[in-house]
Amino acid sequence: MNNNWGIAIHGGAENKTKKEISEAQQAAYEQGLENALIAGWRVLNDGGSAVDAVEAAVRSMENNRLFNAGKGASLATDQSIEFDAAIMDGKTMKAGAIGGVKHIKNPITLAKTIMQKSKHVMLCATGAEDFAREYELEMKSDQYFWTEEKEKELEEAKKEKDVAGGHDTVGAVALDRNGNLAAATSTGGLVNQLPGRVGDSPIIGSGTYANNEVCAVSCTGDGEGIMRANTAHEVYAHMKYKGLSLKEASQAAMTLYKDRIEGDRNFVAMDKDGNIEFSFETNLMFRACKKGDEPSYVAVWKDEEVAWENEA
Ligand code: ASP
Repeated sequence: MNNNWGIAIHGGAENKTKKEISEAQQAAYEQGLENALIAGWRVLNDGGSAVDAVEAAVRSMENNRLFNAGKGASLATDQSIEFDAAIMDGKTMKAGAIGGVKHIKNPITLAKTIMQKSKHVMLCATGAEDFAREYELEMKSDQYFWTEEKEKELEEAKKEKDVAGGHDTVGAVALDRNGNLAAATSTGGLVNQLPGRVGDSPIIGSGTYANNEVCAVSCTGDGEGIMRANTAHEVYAHMKYKGLSLKEASQAAMTLYKDRIEGDRNFVAMDKDGNIEFSFETNLMFRACKKGDEPSYVAVWKDEEVAWENEA
């Protein structure tokens, strides 16, 4: 029995200023985080697995239009919406992932089904959709995901001839009562990305990684940078091979090869002893955690007054 069980989640990291997010919007984000946190925490509290807990937390955010995953996923150049997601079980080191998949209501559940029911780790595009239908996972029409606001966001990004990043990808890490770690990440990618572009989130070791021996990590930020820096696996490697603490390893993974690999790297990480780290270089990270019966911690801004002793 492990008494250090708990869960930590993120709903993305951005460089917005306080003027760009109204009090009402912030309150809505905080509520969304709390709902997701409790969805995952309940699974652990009832004796469920870390895998089921991270799936529950991520599903909750995928069903919330505020976050860039599932229902809230952003638009590519041609207005299509494609999902990337991954889940990893730290006990078995099995993983499931999807890249560039449309129409699936809960991408993280498709990733988990691939992990548990197929011989493969990653399925992409229409093959993944067919697999989802075979397992009767809920599919939605384009209309379910589309909003006028998303279209405006896409137009803005097109005017600036850029992709808009840092947009509320979601993720979770958890340690269950049996000492098992898991990580999950789900995203709609970047606004104005090319159709078919896949980011770091579903790449095991880049955006998502879990290994019971050491830690679990879920990233958000500039996918092109994170996948070249193998950020999630670097947190693991610095702990495993250099003997660093979770905090030190997180700092090292965040800054490694910064001279050659651009873009922001942000992540939530948890080690086998239940320590939690929120590492981010943006102004804000939508984040929350709850350890055992301790009260929930929910925060948005970097300088938030609510102190979290393990924050990098
Ligand atoms: N990392 C995600 C991607 O590149 C985006 C994000 O985290 O906002 O697809």
